[in-house]
Amino acid sequence: MSETLPVPLLSVIVPVKDEEDAIVPFVTRMTRVLDALRDPQGAPIGWEILFIDDGSTDRTMAAILVAHDADRRVGALSLSRNFGKEAALSAGLDHARGAVVVPIDVDMQDPPEVIGAMIDKWRDGYEVVYGVRRNRLTDSLPKRLTADLYYRAHNWLSMDKIPEHAGDFRLLDRKVVEVIKRMPERNRFMKGLFAWSGFRQTAVEYDRAERAVGTTKFNYWKLWQLAIDGITSASTAPLRVWSYVGAVIAVVALVYAVYIGVRTLIYGADVAGYPSLMVATLFLGGVQLLSLGILGEYVGRILVETKKRPIYIVRQRIGCTDPTLEKAGIGRPDPAAKDAD
Ligand code: UDP
Ligand code: MG
Repeated sequence: MSETLPVPLLSVIVPVKDEEDAIVPFVTRMTRVLDALRDPQGAPIGWEILFIDDGSTDRTMAAILVAHDADRRVGALSLSRNFGKEAALSAGLDHARGAVVVPIDVDMQDPPEVIGAMIDKWRDGYEVVYGVRRNRLTDSLPKRLTADLYYRAHNWLSMDKIPEHAGDFRLLDRKVVEVIKRMPERNRFMKGLFAWSGFRQTAVEYDRAERAVGTTKFNYWKLWQLAIDGITSASTAPLRVWSYVGAVIAVVALVYAVYIGVRTLIYGADVAGYPSLMVATLFLGGVQLLSLGILGEYVGRILVETKKRPIYIVRQRIGCTDPTLEKAGIGRPDPAAKDAD
């Protein structure tokens, strides 16, 4: 890729769930950043902001419509219910039209100003530029520790290493987006999909801010589920480990059996040994239930995959247009744009 590649169109995709107060500040700040971006010839670049309303129950959609009326480069998909952030991101990737796509959270914990640096890296030939949090001081200590633990566990178990402390804020080349779009799985652990897809990847560092407005939509239970999704979709090691655990226990049992046999021959039988019997039974019972549970995790996921249901359902689409771009004939016109007017 050469130095002079322009950005024909940049799509910013933003999943939102109950963020009515965050829309306006986000659009204001993002517009300022995007309008300031220049291609190598010094011309402004075309852009669109695509919100994915992930089943909000407040006035998020109304706020987006107001923003859309003020600026047609702002559009939205409204999903029929809450499908979760990963599904919402998939919806965004499917509908974004840009040559580069930037997923970002609406709460501005990830500063939009970093997008300029990401585009510079993209012009250098990188297809994925992910943002890495320089520090996680805005996260609580337990969240930092569990996040750390998770990244270690994931990368230890899986062949597809995910970059540590990189969120979903990143720049994706169209090539990568097309690969992700072709991935049929229902379990959309995005960071895992990005890691699997390969390509030339690099990082830009930034400081993560406090959430600007509203509250986090992820509690520890949700994060735990996300972690399980991530690991089960990226690795089968938790399934395979039980063969080894079983083998080790069998060998130990065999040695112990020989020992008991010999001892009985020499010293005769005694009926003691209730505690050791109990310990062995309970231990094995525990190991079996655990391995069964892990098996269940995978079988459950197979069930979900075989149903082949859509990952998300779009209720309404508010198309975006960039008038200057479309006049210049750059970028596909958005088929939904007409419906919205
Ligand atoms: N989000 C979503 N669907 C959900 C939960 C969250 O689209 O079911 C969006 C949310 O509106 C926000 C982004 O995902 O734009 C990140 O959520 P949040 O800031 O609550 O996560 P955190 O930064 O605390 O991990
Ligand atoms: Mg956040």
